[in-house]
Amino acid sequence: MTSTFKTFLKHTAKDFHNQSVNPPVVRASTIIFKSMQDIRKTQSKFRKNPIGGHFDYGRQGTSTTYILQKILTKLEESYHVFLTPTGFGAIFLAIFSLVRPGDEIIVADPSYKPTRRLTQDFLKDFNIKTIFYNPSDLNTLRKNISKNTKLIFVENPGSNTFDFQDLSKIIQIAKKHKIYTAIDNTWGTPYFLKPIKLGFDMSIVSATKYYSGHSDVMGGSLAVNKRVFRKVQLADNVTGLRLGPDDAYLITRGLRTLDVRLDKHQDNAKKVAAFLSKYKNIKLLYPYKKNSQNFKMWKKYYSGSSGLMGLKIKSKNKKSVTKFVNSLKLFGYGYSWGGFESLALHQSNLEIGKRNYLKLEKDEHLVRLHIGLEDPKDIINDIKQALKHLK
Ligand SMILES: *Cc1c(COP(=O)(O)O)cnc(C)c1O
Repeated sequence: MTSTFKTFLKHTAKDFHNQSVNPPVVRASTIIFKSMQDIRKTQSKFRKNPIGGHFDYGRQGTSTTYILQKILTKLEESYHVFLTPTGFGAIFLAIFSLVRPGDEIIVADPSYKPTRRLTQDFLKDFNIKTIFYNPSDLNTLRKNISKNTKLIFVENPGSNTFDFQDLSKIIQIAKKHKIYTAIDNTWGTPYFLKPIKLGFDMSIVSATKYYSGHSDVMGGSLAVNKRVFRKVQLADNVTGLRLGPDDAYLITRGLRTLDVRLDKHQDNAKKVAAFLSKYKNIKLLYPYKKNSQNFKMWKKYYSGSSGLMGLKIKSKNKKSVTKFVNSLKLFGYGYSWGGFESLALHQSNLEIGKRNYLKLEKDEHLVRLHIGLEDPKDIINDIKQALKHLK
């Protein structure tokens, strides 16, 4: 019987074993074999089929991490998925797998700050050059390609400013010049956007966010196509990055409700967006306004939108913006997002970092909201009362 992915998510354990509803958590360093011949047999199976779940040591994973890899490979429609202890670990693994001294990387300007720090600052010492491109002007990408360009690193939408890019154009440019491509797809997850199908070589998701969905575990996934598989496998092997089985279990458990939660985050966020769109001093950074460029680019590639949005607030009174954020009662103030709960942050340079193409006027302020799974009426009422403080 064929079933949809929504059904598959609910039956992930059933597909893999037939005892408890949930897969067992298998913790292991040493794996015991019956004989030396038995060890060699497993090693030979691993060499013939490195994605087949043949392990001779715990660093390669256990059946618990293997189950998660199988689920995510199906979700991503990729060749394989590598697991890392954090989302940022997956970004590091992606870049480390492909880029060597003398190479150049072109990175989306609104990439999340740790990605900018890794590429622009840290890799400089390894003689790797980073150039940032403007997400709304791909000529800044084209004109910076040289014979040394190895990788185009996209984050979509951009962190904090939520710029949606013309993804297939980027892939087209990369293919023409035989450059690898990677995308940070944490905002939409492959539930709403499938980058490998679109033509990206690598797709990164922080499992800390929507995959686990409960703000109680960290993890990352790096999905790859066949073209880059061997390179990532080697880098994965020499870096020793490993997701523990207990964390993998929590992420597998969270994934079962990924569709239900994301559909609800989307519903709630749309209601909040509709409410906020009435305020003339607030520009919504969310694919909501049908005639906007961001909406068009979102619509072209995504089947849905998640719960994370930005507000660009126009106010000559910065203190009143802080007062607005501080007056939210349902929202917690803290980093990360993608859990069940609503969160708010007033974004300063500390969060955004230095950008090449972002122009904020003195009277423009960025606030980030993660719209959680609470009753949307309560969320809107809370924002409404807090907005009274905005001048
Ligand atoms: C949070 C985040 C990451 C990193 O994930 P961690 O699990 O916190 O390391 C990467 N990319 C984006 C866009 C994120 O928001």
